[in-house]
Amino acid sequence: MSPKPHPLAPLVGPLRYACARNFENLARVKGLRAPIEAALEKGKGALAPAVETALRAELGRVDATDPGVRKASVGRVADLLRGEGLEVGSLSSSRGAERQADPPGPATPPAGRPSGGGLRGAPVAPRPRKPRAPKKPAATKEAEDAPARMLSISPAEGPLARPLRGAGWRMNPQLLKHLERKGVRTLGDALFLVPRAYEDRRVLRHIAQLRAGERSTFVAEVRAVDESRGRGKRIFKAVLADASGSIAATHYQGGSWLKSRYPIGRKLVVSGEVRQSTWGWEIPHPETEPADDLETSAVHFKRVVPIYPGFERHEQRQLRELTFRVAKELAGAIDDPLPPPLRERVGLVGLADALTALHFPAGNADLEALEAHRSSAHQRLAFDELFFLQLGMALKRQGLKREAGIAFDVSAERVARAKSLLPFAPTGAQDRVLAQILRDMGRPEPMNRLLQGDVGSGKTAVALVAAAVAVESGLQVAVMAPTEILAAQHARTFRSGLAALGVEVALVTGSGPARERAQAREAAAAGRARVAIGTHALIQDPIAFERLGLVIIDEQHRFGVIQRHALMAKGATPDVLVMTATPIPRTLAMTLYGDLDVSILDELPPGRTPIETRVFPAKARPAALALIEGELAKGHQAFVVYPLVEESEKLDLADATQGAAQLGAELAGRRVGLLHGRMKQDEKDAVMRSFREKQLDVLVSTTVIEVGVDVPNASVMVVEHAERFGLSQLHQLRGRVGRGAARSFCLLFAGGRSEDAQARLEVMAQTTDGFVIAEKDLELRGPGELLGTRQSGLPEMVVANLARDQALLALAQEEARAIVERDPTLAEPAHRPLAKALAERWEGRLKLAGVG
Ligand code: ADP
Ligand code: MG
Repeated sequence: MSPKPHPLAPLVGPLRYACARNFENLARVKGLRAPIEAALEKGKGALAPAVETALRAELGRVDATDPGVRKASVGRVADLLRGEGLEVGSLSSSRGAERQADPPGPATPPAGRPSGGGLRGAPVAPRPRKPRAPKKPAATKEAEDAPARMLSISPAEGPLARPLRGAGWRMNPQLLKHLERKGVRTLGDALFLVPRAYEDRRVLRHIAQLRAGERSTFVAEVRAVDESRGRGKRIFKAVLADASGSIAATHYQGGSWLKSRYPIGRKLVVSGEVRQSTWGWEIPHPETEPADDLETSAVHFKRVVPIYPGFERHEQRQLRELTFRVAKELAGAIDDPLPPPLRERVGLVGLADALTALHFPAGNADLEALEAHRSSAHQRLAFDELFFLQLGMALKRQGLKREAGIAFDVSAERVARAKSLLPFAPTGAQDRVLAQILRDMGRPEPMNRLLQGDVGSGKTAVALVAAAVAVESGLQVAVMAPTEILAAQHARTFRSGLAALGVEVALVTGSGPARERAQAREAAAAGRARVAIGTHALIQDPIAFERLGLVIIDEQHRFGVIQRHALMAKGATPDVLVMTATPIPRTLAMTLYGDLDVSILDELPPGRTPIETRVFPAKARPAALALIEGELAKGHQAFVVYPLVEESEKLDLADATQGAAQLGAELAGRRVGLLHGRMKQDEKDAVMRSFREKQLDVLVSTTVIEVGVDVPNASVMVVEHAERFGLSQLHQLRGRVGRGAARSFCLLFAGGRSEDAQARLEVMAQTTDGFVIAEKDLELRGPGELLGTRQSGLPEMVVANLARDQALLALAQEEARAIVERDPTLAEPAHRPLAKALAERWEGRLKLAGVG
């Protein structure tokens, strides 16, 4: 006879799947309302009223079209399931699931196939937690060998630097080997491990006090074990009892190893979700540990105990003994590098106390705060993670400032003349940002500034004024663009903008006739060309300048942290202005660009008509075509973009070529051009030129970057397979239209039949604020995805969380900069421990983040 499952058990599979890896699959999970309703119906009377009410409240939100609303709702449902002791996987915060998931447990179901038989599948029992099979599946093995998640790097000297092996401590050799495989080598390393969860053993219930649906921990003796077969599976049952009653620990899919875990007559501490089945009380797949020392142990009982990620349950006890002893005997040996006044200002506990409480929280600890990494211990450690990164960047920023730079002439008169080169009056935001840039340029220290602004906010105009000031001071300007097309476009803008000053502008690219390229280089070297504009060619092949004073890097949609440093290293110490059109959330900007000063252009030039964005499912194509045709009939032009399919450039090209042909047929009589990455530069130039000169009505392009061009007459941006782009990318594309006064459109074609993709795309229709879209993207895809790659330069954080710890990060930056400003080499006695900790414990981390 099979046990009666928890009424909410059918939701476990879908929720697990939806939450996996920070909601990666959310878009593929649909129609959660129906199964929740069904579960509520089935659970009538069995569910706690509070749970029922809370779950009911989510019915209206869980399928919301707004992905943010939906994600939050799914997160709350998952929390409710967790509260019921059902295992739905990792936390819903922005930290990656890999880091908190329970490695030895069952793996997340593969994409597209939620566990539990799908959304409307048969009820399933809660997934077992960490079954210890005799033969481990490969995935589990891998997780077990994955490097341990440690806070920074433990001290290189002193008692904490002693290796585990040879410390003279009695340790299980198996555990020792496992620790070493995971990179935990010293006593200090053990202290720097971060628990994944905590188990509350302060109050142990009697069996008679247990309540169905609650996750609880109790101590009982093994009375009997029994193995049976049901539906081809081995079911293992152990009868556990205390003075008040008995309960069965059940393992579906048993194994011979279970017998050794439940030796008859042994006292165990058992933890899991209790339920009442048709044949009595049971606790399916509990976690167990020996409890013979219930009365005597100060380590394992009468307290909240840590559970470490990547270690099996039977190892937890031994590991806990190790961390307990290290914390007790050696935590005091660790120097707290933070000066006491700083700690006091920010309200942080001492490092030794934090590390001790991280493993062994105080008796009155708040379990929820612990698990959410919000305890005072976690906050202290999170601060350290954020602070040392900011300190590293502040030192670098200060170091650059102390180098001899160029003081440009930024007299009012000269600035006014530079501004007068613009064919329009600057916006308020442009004036404000220019004042910041020019103040930097006027100082004898090198400028190192980031200019953030949405596409079309007028960054190029700002750059032009800065360049004019530099040129008038007798220095050269280098402008680096991400693509040749953009470099050519900037060259045109700068040539016409600076024409009144009689300035020669050289276009330095990696392609084109060798003689022209050589001439451009020679003009820059001889100083004839006062402005050199180019792509990576500017830094790749060495180009000499006569007197380089200002470097402007237009990153557009890229986060080229690496290139930026390469150009800065070139020549003396020119002023550097990095422009990025990808609005990024504040916390990310501070983490990525903490060594820069940031200016923000948050106002669009006047006369813009907002772009109208519409999402079209594939079947609505005729309506979209009619709209395009209407715009073309008014004499406007259209861009059509195909996503870049990374695996296959050929496929990509076929897609676009075919798309261009199809469009040509659909828009009979219209001139359709094609631009793709495999064309030669002069071919690309020719196509771009004819589009700009209105000899083409429609430009079909394969990549995002190739369309980073300014064609004011274009009023329609069509994105094919829009679901394959991130929201921030779509925002970039959209910014390519709406540059003139005409009403413009952005039409997003959602491929396939996915309603969820369409729902995500609707965000684009709802807002045109790049910062709002970036926050959404961060929420939906996490920082790594938002920034494009893992090499984005974003350091990995173990305790800190960029989405949650905004205030803490701001404090960390403020404190770090204040210290470095006063003491640029950290030479004051009060700051020496900071320098030491930075070098000893954080250096490796900072290097990864591109600082150092
Ligand atoms: P970005 O580089 O930020 O994408 P641009 O500098 O290319 O933006 O400006 C976008 C468009 O707006 C250009 O056509 C530019 O001439 C125009 N523009 C910029 N600043 C102003 C302004 N203050 N008033 C009117 N038009 C402006
Ligand atoms: Mg621009």
